[in-house]
Amino acid sequence: MTPKVARFLADHQPATPCLVLDVDRVEQNFHALRTALPLARIYYAVKANPAAPILERLAGLGSSFDAASAEEVEYCINAGAAPSRISFGNTIKKVSAIKRAFAAGVDLFAFDSDEELEKIATHAPGSRVYCRILVENAGADWPLSRKFGTTLEHARALMIRAGTLGLDAYGLSFHVGSQQTETASYEAAIGRVGMLFTDLRDAHVNLRMVNLGGGFPTAYRDDVPGIDKFGMAIMGAMTKHFGNALPEMLIEPGRFLVADAGVVSAEVVLVSKRGTDPVRWVYLDIGRFGGLAETEGEAIKYRITTDHDGSECGPVAIAGPTCDGADILYEKSNYRLPMALESGDRISLLSTGAYVTTYASQRFNGFAPLVEHYV
Ligand SMILES: *Cc1c(COP(=O)(O)O)cnc(C)c1O
Repeated sequence: MTPKVARFLADHQPATPCLVLDVDRVEQNFHALRTALPLARIYYAVKANPAAPILERLAGLGSSFDAASAEEVEYCINAGAAPSRISFGNTIKKVSAIKRAFAAGVDLFAFDSDEELEKIATHAPGSRVYCRILVENAGADWPLSRKFGTTLEHARALMIRAGTLGLDAYGLSFHVGSQQTETASYEAAIGRVGMLFTDLRDAHVNLRMVNLGGGFPTAYRDDVPGIDKFGMAIMGAMTKHFGNALPEMLIEPGRFLVADAGVVSAEVVLVSKRGTDPVRWVYLDIGRFGGLAETEGEAIKYRITTDHDGSECGPVAIAGPTCDGADILYEKSNYRLPMALESGDRISLLSTGAYVTTYASQRFNGFAPLVEHYV
């Protein structure tokens, strides 16, 4: 928790549940990433947290943006981003969305299929396009594989076809999966992209860009390698596979830039003991439907702090307040919380700045969407 967030919580005691996010920390993360990968242009993945104060701060820092819908394109433009700094990175776009983005001045689009390529050629003629290839997502706590990306052979044919459709065959992309903790995943993916680059050059298609996607991890309950490790691994692999003919490099961080800037402040609604079971059930006023969707399968394990920290702890299961049996955050991940914890206590869920606010449901069981404070 940053000092600014701690001060805000202490001074204001805001109603729970709420997210408090320190926008200065986003800026620090942006600089850390730029230092680790100075040759890569940063396209913030807006979906991680599309709040205007974040987009405005990043636009002011010269960031570019990865948008997944016409609405996200508009958020970026409203935050002051030039359309030339926006990539429409979703490979699944409605025709109306392509038209809206193109009319707004966006000229960089992702695709991974013939039909999507045709849609872009028709509704965003002459644009720069990049094809997403399928890569392994091993090592990612929140994998994205299978839904997106195509094979190297198909990507090769698609990039040749892009030119014949009047598009600018600009580059290739991949995404190694979110909360990726292994630098080797980037190295392997860069190897695949490098092969296709060479192959396409022989076919007289001169790609100029590699989009390395996002995936850079944040420290939740467990520590992760530092961003400098990812920077070194990526530059090593780029040099190995491209020599001194390095293409333009793009990265699309989401989680890394915003996650550890935010804290969810929540209230303990109930601590329930069942017979002789040593595991207490702790019910919070936020759960799976209040925005903590990434606890699905207990994939993302948030660090939890309380005012009783330092006192004796015991095992707990942690659940949300709704009447849905799926609204359990952690049952198998061996969470332990202070024995003194009781109804009415405040607790903090750390590093909840990414993939939380927008996942909150609309009044399921009457609970309002998560309140957000940007400080
Ligand atoms: C979600 C997503 C990102 C951001 O991923 P993080 O793991 O949050 O860095 C980047 N690019 C694309 C195409 C995405 O879908």
